[in-house]
Amino acid sequence: MTTRAELAALDAADPLQSFRDRFVLADGLIYLDGNSLGALPRHTAARLQDVITREWGQDLITSWNRNDWIGMGTRVGDKIGRLIGAGPGQVVCADSTSINVFKLVAAAVALRPGRTVVLSDHGNFPTDLYMVQGLASIAGQGVTLKLVDEGDLIGAIDDTVACVLTTEVNYRTGWRHDMAATTKAAHAAGAIMLWDLAHSAGAFPVHLDAVGADLAVGCGYKYLNGGPGAPAFLYVASRHQATIRPPLSGWLGHDAPFAFDLTYRPAGGIVRNVCGTPPVLSMAALECGVDVMLEADMAEVRRKSVALADLFHQLVEDRLPGQFRIISPRDGDRRGSQVCLAHDHGYAIVQALVAAHVIPDFRAPDILRFGLTPLYVRYVDIWDAVERLGAIMAAETWRRPEFQTRAKVT
Ligand SMILES: *Cc1c(COP(=O)(O)O)cnc(C)c1O
Repeated sequence: MTTRAELAALDAADPLQSFRDRFVLADGLIYLDGNSLGALPRHTAARLQDVITREWGQDLITSWNRNDWIGMGTRVGDKIGRLIGAGPGQVVCADSTSINVFKLVAAAVALRPGRTVVLSDHGNFPTDLYMVQGLASIAGQGVTLKLVDEGDLIGAIDDTVACVLTTEVNYRTGWRHDMAATTKAAHAAGAIMLWDLAHSAGAFPVHLDAVGADLAVGCGYKYLNGGPGAPAFLYVASRHQATIRPPLSGWLGHDAPFAFDLTYRPAGGIVRNVCGTPPVLSMAALECGVDVMLEADMAEVRRKSVALADLFHQLVEDRLPGQFRIISPRDGDRRGSQVCLAHDHGYAIVQALVAAHVIPDFRAPDILRFGLTPLYVRYVDIWDAVERLGAIMAAETWRRPEFQTRAKVT
């Protein structure tokens, strides 16, 4: 049987150990929700202070050139590219994930004239599906959304499909698609493959170029620690950049924005996928989060993430037998960086955990979701979280009335 002392020894020997101190985390708090909102990197506040007081306060409009605000989207994009296996010039930081899904699905369908089907699965995050539904409502017969079970996605790709759209890791269960095999199947049928990396970027190594991915989007405020509402990113493989036509053709994606031509003409390269002005403050914060990730060895991050999840599963089985259904895959290869437990009273149990300074989140209808972020989550945190969960179950503290009312955000 594992002991807490053994886990403390693992933490002491952990090559990622020093990273925890790079984040602001209250003593005694076990934060297992970095998959929804990453923790605050220690140097972000000073960097933002500088952007506000010097770059904005003093340099004012000259900052667009002097402090390269205008180049931020591609600069931060290239840095994110290093985390997701994308060579330079293929990633840009812009807009939100939802908006980037819209832009790239529309562009993907346009790349496959005569085909109208956007194929996705029931495990995909709803906003991705909603954006396709919205696109279909303006594209009429030109776009149809087809949904299948996630395990059936590859088998459902045929020559009617213009674009396969899915999220690599199921946000609710942690189940992970086989990116190489799915991309290959899409290409064999002549379809464009669009990956949502919201639960991948910064969570484990991704190899977009190596698998021959076409398009991807992802989120800045989760594993990249960019802060609430941080801008998102998008990837367009070099081979598609000259032909892709962004449907949201804004001026900063124009070839010569400051010529103020009356007709849109797309910029060369990834920049054409930008619409408008970058949110400088939020992007500066995101860059801080990405910079910390870039210092870490992603292979080590992955190794520890798998070990933390395996430990979590094992402790729940050993110490709370029969109390929860373990939903997250046991096979590390088929799993993202989260552990998911199902319980009929999941919502109330999550509230009781929060009151005990363990922060997971709840995903309807019955899932307790624990995000594992190896830069700041320790092995002993998993032990302590399961201990506190056990105490809550034994004393049934989750039955308290204050844990029953649902807040707006779960
Ligand atoms: C979190 C998440 C999003 C979020 O989209 P926003 O536009 O940033 O709100 C999109 N897709 C997936 C898969 C997510 O997990």
